[in-house]
Amino acid sequence: METTLVLVKPDGVQRHLVGRILARFEEKGLQVVGLRMMCIPEATLRVHYAAHKGKPFYEGLIAYMSSGPVVAVAIRGPRAIGVVRTLMGKTFGHEAAPGTIRGDLGLSGSFNLVHGSDSPEAAKAELALYFKPEDLCEWRPLDLDAILDPRDAGDHK
Ligand code: UDP
Ligand code: MG
Repeated sequence: METTLVLVKPDGVQRHLVGRILARFEEKGLQVVGLRMMCIPEATLRVHYAAHKGKPFYEGLIAYMSSGPVVAVAIRGPRAIGVVRTLMGKTFGHEAAPGTIRGDLGLSGSFNLVHGSDSPEAAKAELALYFKPEDLCEWRPLDLDAILDPRDAGDHK
């Protein structure tokens, strides 16, 4: 099982899309193990987006992500990191496929509603930026045996 970080970005909160965005992950069968609304301090954003430092959109990205509250979500499931990225769709809303969160709900390149970690290393580092270990809940969804085939180890990666 993987655990990954999702952020409903400030535009998602301002547009009252938090419930609909979280529903996409829940409907897929992924499990919410941590949830928190917060205004991200600028220093934290500069750590989170360090890989983009120097790019033309970097300062705008920091300003956008500082512009209002976000909802940080720790999401768990088999192959959760890749599954979340697939559900999000391509970075720019105008390029993202219909059926994805970005493809269905947005048009903008920069205001793209949602963040998801892109690798196991990023997920570990990003989860630590927003959640203390004790803030993550260990629980077993009652419908897990209907979502994942209990006899198929590949289902439980
Ligand atoms: N971004 C932007 N302009 C660009 C590329 C990215 O404003 O040309 C913003 C956008 O909000 C994106 C974030 O910077 O989600 C991080 O970029 P990345 O390439 O990591 O995209 P993601 O992983 O979010 O799809
Ligand atoms: Mg990224």
